Amino acid sequence: MPSATKLKSKPRARRATTKSPASPWRFRNAAGLEILELAPFTQFDWLVHGFSTRPGGASILESRGLGQPRSEKVLNLGYTDWDRRDRVDENRRRFVKALGHPELPLVTLRQIHSDISHVISAPPAAPDNSRKGDALATCSPGLLLAIQTADCIPILLVDPRHRAVAAIHAGWRGTLARVVTKTLGRMQMEFSTKPADVLAAIGPGIGQCCYEVGPDVVKEFAAQFPQARSWFEGPFDALASGEDPNPLPWLTMIPPGHEPPPPRCQLDLKAANAALLIEAGVSPKNIFTSDLCTSCRTDLFFSYRRETTTGRMMSVIGIT
Ligand SMILES: [Zn+2]
Repeated sequence: MPSATKLKSKPRARRATTKSPASPWRFRNAAGLEILELAPFTQFDWLVHGFSTRPGGASILESRGLGQPRSEKVLNLGYTDWDRRDRVDENRRRFVKALGHPELPLVTLRQIHSDISHVISAPPAAPDNSRKGDALATCSPGLLLAIQTADCIPILLVDPRHRAVAAIHAGWRGTLARVVTKTLGRMQMEFSTKPADVLAAIGPGIGQCCYEVGPDVVKEFAAQFPQARSWFEGPFDALASGEDPNPLPWLTMIPPGHEPPPPRCQLDLKAANAALLIEAGVSPKNIFTSDLCTSCRTDLFFSYRRETTTGRMMSVIGIT
């Protein structure tokens, strides 16, 4: 009876397709906060790491959506204009406590969307925001390297063989400048890191679903990376070649103000950075990418694109 076979085989097929290995990412509740962590990193007892989330802080974020204005308590970890410094400091205290290491100093950067990396071997003398750059690396215990984001991609690297770590901030400019490749190169020089040993966590950031970019970004990526096309959705070739898929209004007699919106592509920054890591010699099986989109999940994260006035998450890694 073919119909019976069909009925019997259907649920089995469905089970097979939905059966996937458990996600290596998990939320851990600690000290009243939700910390996102990567299971493969927790196997090293000398390593501390975590990605902060939005809820549970001392900061008060006022938002005016379509509905009533509302205020929300958030874990803003960046010194943003709208927030009070003492509240951000309190949030940072709560966060390092939740990481289990309240005694360790946070090392931060003034992030400038560059390819500049800093190798750190001692804690900063005082809380220091004057160091400019977008990546931190160390093989010294007792430091928490911290990157701040609100849509950009945070990347944490671990070299278990030499006990060295790095934290990287990659938006489209940093990705274009290959900040991840250059930081890995710095680890090779400073710590004798072999890319084949490295484990990489590509944390929550804006997903391709929400990350629209215009012709300028498309052209720059096309000029820089032969494989760029695979990181974009949309009219990549038209935008990369400079042929506007929407002809000028005066050619088509469209009245001013009624032109179609300028053409856009959607960029997958996480995929781009994963590809750069693979190109540099990191094994694909050692690269773990969070599929959480900061713009889709403003319940969990801050999104600069979606909200403009918003907080900053921190992605932290250190050696105990
Ligand atoms: Zn999204």
